[in-house]
Amino acid sequence: MTGFSGDTIAAIATPPGQGGVAVVRVSGSEARLVVEKVLRRGRGRGLPQARTVYVGTVHEASGGAAIDRVIAFWMPGPRSYTGEDVVEVQCHGGSLVSGRVLESLLAAGARAAEPGEFTKRALLNGRLDLAQAEAVADLIAARSESARRLAWSQLDGLLSGRVGVLRDAVVAARALCEAAIDFPDEDIPELEPGTLDAELRRIRTELDRLVASFERGRLRYEGARAVLVGKPNVGKSSLLNALAGRERAIVTPVAGTTRDVVEATIALPGGAVVVADTAGIRDACDGVERLGAERAHAAIEDAGCVLAVLDGSDALDEDDQMVAAAIGERAVIVLVNKSDLRQSAPEAEIARAFPRAIRIRVSALTRHGLDEVERALGTALFGGSDAGGEDEVTLFRERHRDAARVASEGLARAESGLLARVPTELIASDLAAATDALGSITGEISNEDVLDRVFSEFCLGK
Ligand code: GDP
Repeated sequence: MTGFSGDTIAAIATPPGQGGVAVVRVSGSEARLVVEKVLRRGRGRGLPQARTVYVGTVHEASGGAAIDRVIAFWMPGPRSYTGEDVVEVQCHGGSLVSGRVLESLLAAGARAAEPGEFTKRALLNGRLDLAQAEAVADLIAARSESARRLAWSQLDGLLSGRVGVLRDAVVAARALCEAAIDFPDEDIPELEPGTLDAELRRIRTELDRLVASFERGRLRYEGARAVLVGKPNVGKSSLLNALAGRERAIVTPVAGTTRDVVEATIALPGGAVVVADTAGIRDACDGVERLGAERAHAAIEDAGCVLAVLDGSDALDEDDQMVAAAIGERAVIVLVNKSDLRQSAPEAEIARAFPRAIRIRVSALTRHGLDEVERALGTALFGGSDAGGEDEVTLFRERHRDAARVASEGLARAESGLLARVPTELIASDLAAATDALGSITGEISNEDVLDRVFSEFCLGK
């Protein structure tokens, strides 16, 4: 697969809008030639030396007017991002400027790149494997620190390395079976019950652990949802601001279908949590009596954890009971707010209304108890601190989970086949299926459909 060099492609690699600098990237066998056609450098010519920065002016390809003063450097393949010759042109960061520079490069012979095409070429040239290519997209799209860490470790090769080791082990097992098929008269002790099947079980256990890590990985990558519910004036929005403020999260009004719902993202060690305030629902529905309304229920259903807010300075009333009823069986943490005031809501009564819930006395005003809220929320949503250390492989893409599952099923069939002493050919074919499934994670086995699906998720210029 190495040595792929396609036609020459170009795209703006920086986001649209205004910024100090924009990068226009060119890759392919004629990358240098194309740039040299439109770049003028005083009395100097072209880009004589690789990996050297040159200042010049990009002109219209027809030899016309100057467009912008730029910095350009070329990185000859294979030591470049795509593995091909790459030239990067840094121009001023306005959409119009970068657009004109790109136009000029296209007129000079480059073709507009498809989304993800640079990374696809990097894959075809063996600069990274498919799991790493996916990680590039996931890193770019990461919206929380825990998502970034997950994507980075995958780009760094954590998943590919682990899958490679497991695949090698399956290949070794398969080689034994092939040997038994090729030399039917030889006794191969490893194929006796208790040896190869034990090895397959070991590999399968590890694969099953990977499959099981998916739910946690998804949560860590995507973030979790929590929702604040409670009757009016108990302090839901104050608590949302207090929780968001300390994490310096952005409180953004998100347009809802009927009324705005305010959400804030808070970063916990296990992942990001989007906390929604149902105040908008309350307004729309005219009172907590209407908490049964569809949207309130939907918000509660969507949430991994419900934060039920009570006013500790007031006695519990019917409205609070209705909140408890609306929550039903969901995981709930009760925040007994306004702990800075004289407390009138007795513990026993709260416990009766929310029998399964963790109860925490808090104050949005003084921030008392908020640490404990974050800890409890983290445990409820992510199972404690950053579950799974940095070195633990955690799957967060369905494609990987499905492939690991197919591999595990192949191994399970091979194991029972060994014990039932079915023909070795059948075992070898189950192991081949497992090998292929593992290979599909890193792209050793791939087809155009999979590649198209993966790269269609990319932004332009990557
Ligand atoms: P919501 O209707 O449930 O969103 O409640 P708000 O957040 O709008 O708060 C209602 C009132 O309670 C406001 O006047 C807040 O200033 C006040 N409040 C909220 N939290 C606290 C608290 O912890 N202590 C005190 N003393 N007042 C609070």
